[in-house]
Amino acid sequence: MSKFSSPTQQGADRYQLELDTLFATSRLRQLVPDHANCINFSANDYLGLAHDSRLAQAAMEATQQFGTSASSSRLITGTSDLILGLEQQIARWKNAEAALVFNSGYQANVAILQALLSGGDEVFCDRLNHASLIDGCQLSGAKLRRYRHLDLNHLESLLQQSTATIKWIVTDSVFSMDGDYPDLVALTDLAIRYNAFTLIDEAHATGIYGAKKSAGLCEQFGVSDRVSLQMGTFSKALGGFGAYVAGSRTLIDTLINQARGLIYSTALPPGVIAAAAKAIEIVQHDPEPKAKLWENIRLTEELLQTPVLSPIIPVPVGDTQRVLALSEELLKAGYRVHAIRPPTVPEKTDRLRVSLSARHTADEIRGLVSVLEKTGCLGGA
Ligand SMILES: *Cc1c(COP(=O)(O)O)cnc(C)c1O
Repeated sequence: MSKFSSPTQQGADRYQLELDTLFATSRLRQLVPDHANCINFSANDYLGLAHDSRLAQAAMEATQQFGTSASSSRLITGTSDLILGLEQQIARWKNAEAALVFNSGYQANVAILQALLSGGDEVFCDRLNHASLIDGCQLSGAKLRRYRHLDLNHLESLLQQSTATIKWIVTDSVFSMDGDYPDLVALTDLAIRYNAFTLIDEAHATGIYGAKKSAGLCEQFGVSDRVSLQMGTFSKALGGFGAYVAGSRTLIDTLINQARGLIYSTALPPGVIAAAAKAIEIVQHDPEPKAKLWENIRLTEELLQTPVLSPIIPVPVGDTQRVLALSEELLKAGYRVHAIRPPTVPEKTDRLRVSLSARHTADEIRGLVSVLEKTGCLGGA
């Protein structure tokens, strides 16, 4: 400990020891600046909207007109016409009675689950659900039951054992580190059969799936009106920041009254709200970015000769040092492909995570695949 003092040497020693252990096991995380002249295959900007001038324009106009901050929480003076307009737009887009905007996907999931679940309730989670969903379940005090990834038979056997009156099934739609997704028709069938509510996290599906409105995987599977809550973020394909949840008036009103992450936090700034509204308009009316993304997904599928379900393509490696070395090698070749290590993914499932964007050219994708082939990491661990 140097510049800032620590109240006890013991405390300082413990933190340093924890860091040393992470370093020794190749798990230390560091904040590394992005490599500007690399081709980025790690971002979640699937449709390229983070660099779309239409969003930038909307954000600038709203900022100039309404300022840089909402300056208070939603329940005080943070509820502008702009944000109410966005919520109505989302409700229409999602075929829901109502919608509510949150400051981030992480905050939304923690706040929603904490608000809707209590001790005595039961929540059923896919084992690989995003950390924000797991954290929300744990904070809620409800009984957490985790079922094997995408295994609806396992989910059903857990539902059969349940005696709780309030049950929630909670899942990512597209899984953030695996790129796969559950059969939402079968999952919502189970929910109906066992009287369970459903929360579907569309963070990686919003804007990418759904033939008519690009509203997500719930639209694609035709289950929007069977799902209790559809949540998603503006921070991935929508190229912005923040999150939303859509559902019945009763559930949304409950969140307005109970969701601490909403009540005790300043609302998103006007520029962020305006960019989100513009992005939702674009994904419904401009088919171009989505068509280009799917063209890139199909090309990658063809080159890899393996089914690719989403813009997220995990390349299994299974060893922490090896995955870091591979990521470094790709970087030297000019491609930014992030190494994903435990605890973000389970032990011994370290992987490279390739994410595709509408902004990638066919040549960039061919180049990446050929470097991946040279490193020998394709075709399993
Ligand atoms: C990224 C992500 C979140 C968190 O969203 P942020 O807006 O980045 O906080 C939540 N759920 C899933 C499945 C995600 O991938």
